[in-house]
Amino acid sequence: MKWIPYGRQELSDADVAAVVQVLESEFITQGPVSVAFESAVADYCNVPFSIAVNSATSALHIACLAMNIGPGDLVWTSPNTFVASANCARYCGAEVDFVDIDSQTYNLCAQALEQKLHKASRSGAPLPALVIVVHFAGQSCDMKAIHRLSQLYGFKIIEDASHAIGGSYLGKPVGQCEFSDACVFSFHPVKIITSGEGGMIMTASSELAERMRQYRSHGIVREPEYDQTGCLEQWAYQQISLGFNYRLTDIQAALGLSQLNRLNEFVEKRRVLAARYDQLLQGYGYVLPSQSNAARSAHHLYPILVPDEPQCRTVRNKLYRHLHEASIGVNVHYIPVHSQPYYRSLGFRWGDYPVAEAYYERTLTLPLFSSLCREDQDRVIESLQGFLHQRLAA
Ligand SMILES: *Cc1c(COP(=O)(O)O)cnc(C)c1O
Repeated sequence: MKWIPYGRQELSDADVAAVVQVLESEFITQGPVSVAFESAVADYCNVPFSIAVNSATSALHIACLAMNIGPGDLVWTSPNTFVASANCARYCGAEVDFVDIDSQTYNLCAQALEQKLHKASRSGAPLPALVIVVHFAGQSCDMKAIHRLSQLYGFKIIEDASHAIGGSYLGKPVGQCEFSDACVFSFHPVKIITSGEGGMIMTASSELAERMRQYRSHGIVREPEYDQTGCLEQWAYQQISLGFNYRLTDIQAALGLSQLNRLNEFVEKRRVLAARYDQLLQGYGYVLPSQSNAARSAHHLYPILVPDEPQCRTVRNKLYRHLHEASIGVNVHYIPVHSQPYYRSLGFRWGDYPVAEAYYERTLTLPLFSSLCREDQDRVIESLQGFLHQRLAA
């Protein structure tokens, strides 16, 4: 039987032609196409600055550095995310803590954030310098409420929008940074659009943009005023900070730029498929994803929950195996980050974030990607229905 993955890229002849065109051109990296890709995504998001990098992980790392996150700082994020959302703070030597999720959207909960901030401030415990919110499954967090708290308690905000390019919040594109300091996208092939590997940081701050550009490329600038030897030659460059090589190649940028043409079409296809799951899985006892009124999702993931019962974890695992035996590549998003061995070694324990943990024990991500055809989606739906019949018969 044909294998149905949970997510995959959709490439066109135009995408291939765009990549070949770069391969046959003068610059396969550090050329005009990566700049064009940056401008095109910035235009799409209606934001002044964008920095293309080789992954969302790199994007998160240099966004933290540009905000001066370092040893002694505290960074809070969601436990229901990929490990990169927390690791970026650790790269900078900062401490990480988590804020439990909302039981409806599975996003970092603004009320839980408020309570945690209030408690920390009353007891004189350290407050976060930065909160990294994650737009889980493609749906924006409650940014207005989180932004209000940032003004009250004085922290910066990064949106990890790896799932959410093409989505919107209060009618504005995710990435516009109205309620954040920076917003990060991923172009890994399972995400909404792809460049193979790749990421981009959006920001409305020229200062942050400048710093991130430096960190992307070794901390090097070409500005004679930094040159203590007084060298004014064309070939001179000055390394003014400790940066990295996090550049995106023009080969990758060409693919990303070409894919961007179909971003709205991809999101629309995902929306229609998600609506079909909503309709056809109704009434089977699974909890289906809920949409907030403030956000329009990019529909990166379609997570369902098995019914809430004492053995739910076993049921979820059985359902996972049942679907895999039918060649359906369901997945689990996410194992709570704080429960990973690395984070346990830093002192976190199972039980620390009960909402994220209870969600994890019941969740399963169904296949959802723009090129998923109806017949394949029907196979997924029938397998989910068949599982319940098998359980009833047992
Ligand atoms: C995919 C993902 C990342 C990492 O993206 P890369 O481009 O693979 O580095 C970070 N955060 C979240 C929420 C993701 O889903």
